[in-house]
Amino acid sequence: MFILFGFRTSDQRLGVRTMLCDVCGNTAAQGLVKRTTKFTLFFIPLFPVKRPTYFRECTHCGAGRQVDERYVLS
Ligand SMILES: [Zn+2]
Repeated sequence: MFILFGFRTSDQRLGVRTMLCDVCGNTAAQGLVKRTTKFTLFFIPLFPVKRPTYFRECTHCGAGRQVDERYVLS
């Protein structure tokens, strides 16, 4: 018998803000994404293995930047 385990990373879209993009310089919708990595046992995600990271994605140019957790709460 063997135990099948691994990790799964999933993204969750939290919301959208219209802001100035640092990369392309256009004012466009910026999607806020929460990325979580969980430990899986037999392909069932059980618990997170590290703190979630947050990303801001520009809908105009597609560039993504990691943002601080305080940015999400403000
Ligand atoms: Zn952009």
